[in-house]
Amino acid sequence: MERTLIILKPDAVQRGLIGEIITRFEKKGLQIAGMKLMVIPQSVAETHYAPHKEKPFYPGLVRFMTSGPVVVLALQGVNAITIARNLMGATFGSKAAPGTIRGDYGVSNAYNLIHGSDSPEAAEKELYLFFKKEELLDWTPTIQSWVYDMTGAKPE
Ligand code: UDP
Ligand code: MG
Repeated sequence: MERTLIILKPDAVQRGLIGEIITRFEKKGLQIAGMKLMVIPQSVAETHYAPHKEKPFYPGLVRFMTSGPVVVLALQGVNAITIARNLMGATFGSKAAPGTIRGDYGVSNAYNLIHGSDSPEAAEKELYLFFKKEELLDWTPTIQSWVYDMTGAKPE
């Protein structure tokens, strides 16, 4: 099983979309391993978006991400990183396909509602930037054997 870091950005929280967005992940079958409401400290936002440091949108992005409460989630599942990115849709709200979170709920390119890790390496870094080890819970949903075929060596 893989874990990915998801952030419901300040626009998602302000617009009252926390429940709708989390519901999509729950219905898909991704498991919540960690979750909290927080205001991202400046230094954490800078570290999180360090790969974009040289981009023209970086200062505005850091300002946006620290401008109000966000919900951070650790989601778990087989291929959770790719599955979450596909549910999120393309980066720009103006271009994201209908049926995706960004495609259904937003039109802005900067205020695009949600962040999701884009690789296992990024997920590892990002999860521990936002969560302490003990905040990520190991638990087995009772429905797991209906979400996955668990009769083989690994979940299918
Ligand atoms: N962003 C922006 N303008 C751009 C590109 C990106 O404001 O031209 C913001 C947007 O909020 C995006 C974030 O910067 O989600 C990180 O960009 P990235 O290319 O990593 O997109 P993502 O991985 O979030 O789809
Ligand atoms: Mg990215």
